[in-house]
Amino acid sequence: MTSKGTILVTGGSRGIGAACVKLLARDGYDVAINYARSAAAAEQLADDAKAVGSHSITVKADVGSEADVTAMFAQIDKAMPPLVGLVNNAGILFEKAMLEEFSAERINETMRVNVTGSFLCAREAVRRMSTAHGGKGGVIVNLSSAAARIGSPNEFIDYAASKGAIDAMTLGLSKEVASQGIRVNAVRPGLIHTDIHSSSGQPDRVERLQGQVPMGRGGSAEEVAQSIVWLLSPAASYVTGVLLDVTGGR
Ligand code: NAP
Repeated sequence: MTSKGTILVTGGSRGIGAACVKLLARDGYDVAINYARSAAAAEQLADDAKAVGSHSITVKADVGSEADVTAMFAQIDKAMPPLVGLVNNAGILFEKAMLEEFSAERINETMRVNVTGSFLCAREAVRRMSTAHGGKGGVIVNLSSAAARIGSPNEFIDYAASKGAIDAMTLGLSKEVASQGIRVNAVRPGLIHTDIHSSSGQPDRVERLQGQVPMGRGGSAEEVAQSIVWLLSPAASYVTGVLLDVTGGR
């Protein structure tokens, strides 16, 4: 199959990112699979992608580190066809707590990975894809969350605020680069079955809260990935600056 170009999926080793990697490889993209710690899971995904004809690589980088992000894009430039898309998916969540208990360290780390990380990766992607810089255009999909509009009281307002920042960045950047051939959208998942809930000390969070979902169930990583892949595709060629809720109606 002829390559459709390279898409970088940050946090591609697990959860929603891993589901994106699988669908993108199947659809004929070459995928750069970023991870922070889960090297074995990322390698397995790359092997699976190669088995369906995708030229995929794994790239270790902490997206909140400017040096790591610069090195990651340089590695992709060297090893892969030109970048046509970025899925800004890497994200973290701390233990469920009330705001009155938050430390500066917790707040800063949430913002460093979720906000600074997404900004830095978007910056590097724009520098490569923008027609103003000699690129051919491209697409950025940011992972926000329904938390951005719900606020996540009694759980993680810091995380919700980091996703509010992602919504604002999506709106601003979409307008900034629309004339440079780049579309920028965000997907806002609701309660999705992944490991992220264990990091908040609530492995059963989706089961416990799914009664609040009009559709009556949590979503799968693949259901979110399908919406991301659609936004990346030419089928969404006139869609930019959109915050797409994938929440079963919640
Ligand atoms: P997950 O299962 O916990 O996976 C998180 C991914 O992010 C992993 O691949 C992890 O890599 C990577 N990551 C974490 N810190 C990183 C860093 N500093 N640098 C690079 N990669 C890093 O999470 P998920 O549920 O799939 O969530 C994916 C995105 O969707 C996140 O932005 C999250 O906020 C958002 N979201 C999720 C839900 C949900 O219910 N699951 C709802 C709304 C929004 P390693 O494995 O290598 O550490």
